[in-house]
Amino acid sequence: MSESGTRVATLARQANSLLLYLLYLLGLRGSSAVVSTERGQHLLTALAIGLPLSLAFALFNYAAGFHALALVEAAASLLLLPALWLQRGGARLMNAAEWLALAWGATISLALVVFGGVEGSGVLWAFAYPFLAFFLKPQGTAWVVCLAWLGLALMLLALGSSIPAAWLHSPEFKAQLASSLLFATLIAAAFNLVRSRFEQQLAERVAENTSKARAYLEELQYLAEHDLVTGLRNRAGLLLALEAAVASADPELESIVAVSLRLERLPETFNVVGEDAGDRLMQHVAHALSLRVGEGGVLGRTRLDEFIAFQRIDRALATPDRVMGALRNLPLSFTVDGLPIYLDHVSGSATLPDHTDNARDLLRKAEQAMIQARARRVDTALYDGQLDHNFRQRTRLFGELREALSRERLDIWFQPQFCLRTGKLSGAEALARWIRPDGSMVLPGEFIPLAEQSGLIKPLGELMLRRFFASAAQLRDQGLDLRCSVNLSARNLVDPQTLSVLAKLLAGSGVPADRVVVELTESSFADEPEFLMRTAFELRSMGIRQSIDDFGTGYSSLAYLRELPVDELKIDQVFLRQLDETGRSASLVRAMIEVGHTLGLEVVAEGVENEAAERFLVRHGCDFGQGFLYAPAMPLDQFVDYARRTAPRELPVAQSE
Ligand code: C2E
Ligand code: MG
Ligand code: MG
Repeated sequence: MSESGTRVATLARQANSLLLYLLYLLGLRGSSAVVSTERGQHLLTALAIGLPLSLAFALFNYAAGFHALALVEAAASLLLLPALWLQRGGARLMNAAEWLALAWGATISLALVVFGGVEGSGVLWAFAYPFLAFFLKPQGTAWVVCLAWLGLALMLLALGSSIPAAWLHSPEFKAQLASSLLFATLIAAAFNLVRSRFEQQLAERVAENTSKARAYLEELQYLAEHDLVTGLRNRAGLLLALEAAVASADPELESIVAVSLRLERLPETFNVVGEDAGDRLMQHVAHALSLRVGEGGVLGRTRLDEFIAFQRIDRALATPDRVMGALRNLPLSFTVDGLPIYLDHVSGSATLPDHTDNARDLLRKAEQAMIQARARRVDTALYDGQLDHNFRQRTRLFGELREALSRERLDIWFQPQFCLRTGKLSGAEALARWIRPDGSMVLPGEFIPLAEQSGLIKPLGELMLRRFFASAAQLRDQGLDLRCSVNLSARNLVDPQTLSVLAKLLAGSGVPADRVVVELTESSFADEPEFLMRTAFELRSMGIRQSIDDFGTGYSSLAYLRELPVDELKIDQVFLRQLDETGRSASLVRAMIEVGHTLGLEVVAEGVENEAAERFLVRHGCDFGQGFLYAPAMPLDQFVDYARRTAPRELPVAQSE
């Protein structure tokens, strides 16, 4: 475009803007209505200034002798009283109040034009009226009001000479007054345009910021309640949905079933596929599960490897098991980056109102059920309150045991063993005893398995060994030459550190190795046979005797007996209980004694509770006996006393047949 062309276009644009501005100024275009939130404030401001002002005018003019003017001013003030009351109402009442205020202003300003006041100076106040009109009304309406008001003013000025007490203005003054009032109206209109635009922009900006803040808030809320990888609800989100479902369900007719599904060995899988593919894998899982859960259910991802779904079911139509079944048999196999992946899963479910009455607990119980399924090595389980109770007790006991071990509150007691050939006290078995601070005793049957399932068996084994060698040394110091046995768990025996602790303690105690017996339970050989075999040979090389505990209750005992470098076997007490000479137990005990002797081992019978049992054992050549018939386990000092005062037993019958 040429330069002149550009100039013409610029001029046209400017002319257009000017025209637009004029149209806005005159209120012929755009809505320059006062923003609704501001409207009430404008009105209140006008009333708060107007009422005292017009009353002051009335007083002043009355005092100055302008009685008619004062009367009009006082009467006009009355218009503001209903306006004050109306402005508190809705948009319509406010509108009426605005008109009353405009009527008040028009009345007073016109009265001042007509009566002039002191030296005609009252006319000056008339210039305030256009500002009032544009302050209260939209641009177009204010123009109409002001033009009507100007027309009235001109009319009254024309009538001036016929109104008694009117201030008589000169014709030049009237012309000047009319034009300057028009000019003041224009200024008020321009001023109002700026103000209303400013207010509008402000309101728009506030609205924009508010909606932005709302959007941020919604986003934050979404993040707080959802899992970002799968888009499913997270734990907090699921809980909210479940709480809402619980609140609206009818407990008489409906149940809510929650199913917790845990993916097994997920960290290993993530390790193989990497993080991104792991996320994709989780999306596949979420998709597969949500298809099964269906429309009536809600699915959430509550942990990295756990999903929980819940569903409201009609008690008459569905059972929790059917709902669970949908998830239980779901094969989760996918191909991620060309790698076939199969995800094992375990699930558990709980229902409301059967297992609980609140949402949070329902989630927890579904998870408990899943943990129960895992512990029972099954795919799925329904919540079992008794198991949960046991589980909690075990957890509590576990905590207590850890504490007891760290404070070394575990002690070792001794149960005597007798030689069934000579009747003499031959030795003792050391047994762990845990005495709580309140004096109550926990038996090893309760805490040994718990320790074995956790890492606590290692410190427990070492503590017992320390106590054992200290006690064995004390017994020797007291002049008691007895053979003492100590129990060790398989997990202690496969730990090379425990073995070296044992070797050190043995050397430090001064107890001859052949007076020490380590009891190994037969079932422990099933776990890590090779390791244990090696350990057994190491113990043998130290000169320590070894005994197979609980013989007859484990597996493949004879095969191990052939291989192991043991010296003794202990017939388990179940065979000694209700031993009657013609029964099966009797035959088994006899056979076990035979087996032991055939292999060149000494045989100890445990659980000897009565003289009949002792008689039987003696008759069949069992070497040693241990049981309540002689004495239960007792603390070391009591055992020392017992050993001192116990004379050799008179055995019931001659041992040989
Ligand atoms: P165990 O080694 O077979 O010990 C024999 C158990 O039978 C002891 O139970 C003993 O009190 C009990 N007993 C002895 N005589 C009789 C009797 O005439 N009748 C009956 N009914 N029972 C009798 P306790 O002390 O409760 O120990 C249970 C098991 O806990 C032990 O069986 C042993 O396997 C394990 N245990 C004990 N102390 C330790 C330890 O320090 N370390 C390890 N790893 N296990 C231990
Ligand atoms: Mg034992
Ligand atoms: Mg035993």
